[in-house]
Amino acid sequence: MTTGGLLIILSAPSGTGKSTLVKLLLQKRSDLELSISHTTRPPRSSERDGVEYHFVTAETFENMVVSGQFAEYANVYRHRYGTSNAEIARITGEHRHVVFDIDVQGAKQLMSGYPDAVSIFVLPPSLDVLENRLRGRGTETEESFRTRFACAQSETDNYINYRYTVVNDVLDDAVSDILSIIRAEELRSIRQKDVVGRLSG
Ligand code: 5GP
Repeated sequence: MTTGGLLIILSAPSGTGKSTLVKLLLQKRSDLELSISHTTRPPRSSERDGVEYHFVTAETFENMVVSGQFAEYANVYRHRYGTSNAEIARITGEHRHVVFDIDVQGAKQLMSGYPDAVSIFVLPPSLDVLENRLRGRGTETEESFRTRFACAQSETDNYINYRYTVVNDVLDDAVSDILSIIRAEELRSIRQKDVVGRLSG
């Protein structure tokens, strides 16, 4: 890895398979670390505090907003989600690449604060596939499904604001597309100063 970790923003409409993608990416490259967000959403049965999210009360979240502890935050599906500055500092301090699994509003904020961030939008291959994936995961009520499906449809329009767009049709292909993006970004001339420095004695 070259000096300094990349900030890799991954956004996708709910049900695009982003969580699975992220899991596989982390397995493939040990120098990637997922940024753990804060949220006011209640944990799902399989989720643990400090692992998938830091689960906090609305009051704690608001205090963090007021005291400027978030690099970005947004309301998503009636709950609040945010990335703390401390989380970014922790991971980049270890010279690892940070992966952000965040929505389009948060991504916009991070892109403006960190213009060099590598932003990737993941699209489903079709709306039918999206609906099947959303229903198939069985974690949503009908109401929550409808909200997420409607948001997902409108969210796809945001792909153009991202540096890269990847279609998650065949999972392994999408993973390898993202790994290629990360590798290409590592090899950008601007990130090779250390190598060049060594060559010029
Ligand atoms: P879920 O409730 O399914 O875990 O996540 C819902 C949405 O919130 C997903 O699109 C996810 O990317 C987004 N999200 C998760 N953490 C953050 C965050 O820290 N900031 C923002 N802006 N969105 C987030």
